[in-house]
Amino acid sequence: MPELPEVETTRRGLAPHVEGRRITGVALRRPDLRWPIPPEVARELPGQRVLGVRRRAKYLLLDTAPGSALLHLGMSGMLRVLPAKTPVAAHDHVDLALDSGRVLRFTDPRRFGCLLWQPAGETHELLAHLGPEPLSDAFDGDYLFALSRGRKAPVKTFLMDQAVVVGVGNIYAAESLFQAGIAPGRAAGSVSRERYRRLAAAVKAILAHAITRGGTTLRDFLSPDGAPGYFEQELFVYGREGEACKVCGRTIRDGRMGNRATAWCPGCQR
Ligand SMILES: [Zn+2]
Repeated sequence: MPELPEVETTRRGLAPHVEGRRITGVALRRPDLRWPIPPEVARELPGQRVLGVRRRAKYLLLDTAPGSALLHLGMSGMLRVLPAKTPVAAHDHVDLALDSGRVLRFTDPRRFGCLLWQPAGETHELLAHLGPEPLSDAFDGDYLFALSRGRKAPVKTFLMDQAVVVGVGNIYAAESLFQAGIAPGRAAGSVSRERYRRLAAAVKAILAHAITRGGTTLRDFLSPDGAPGYFEQELFVYGREGEACKVCGRTIRDGRMGNRATAWCPGCQR
């Protein structure tokens, strides 16, 4: 599933090919993805110039004067900029034709992605209740400390709550908690301010690093290979259950937390 770094990498790859371009046509090859595609997409977009390509959480927004196309890649979605005559394959559900002679093509075999519409000046319901961006100044240790007081939920569940902070998926939560030395099952309300400062710093560093990695693997966006933004050999706990900790040598443990697989080191994380 694309995580925040892959979505940000996608945004950075698309922007130079899409921003400033006029949309000359919209081809919808099915009426719905995860949800029905609203009529505004085909009605409002043709003729509009793309003013910007933004990301909010794991959503991408193509801004135009009347509103924004709101896209989510879901489990298997992919956005590519291709020559207009590129043959349409199975699962190529949407094309936005651009005045550059290319198309922005949305491909999604499992159809958990979406294409929705956000009128100019409004905030879509899906974006209305999201926490801050992890790489923004609004997200820091003091913020996590204040918000977590009195909360009994595991700190990992707290960190993955999109109302707390967006885009910290399972892999990044597990690795950040390891870097900060915090056991994932600890009650969120019992973690100190100092430890939350380490955690926020770890989240930012790990996501920024993954975005850099994604940026290098997807340098040629016109033929993306879908490589993940994070390399397996850089992981300390995620996916390493039963193996030796790279720092202390103890066996990485596993369990379930908030119905998600969770790995941690009982030596390094308290
Ligand atoms: Zn360890």
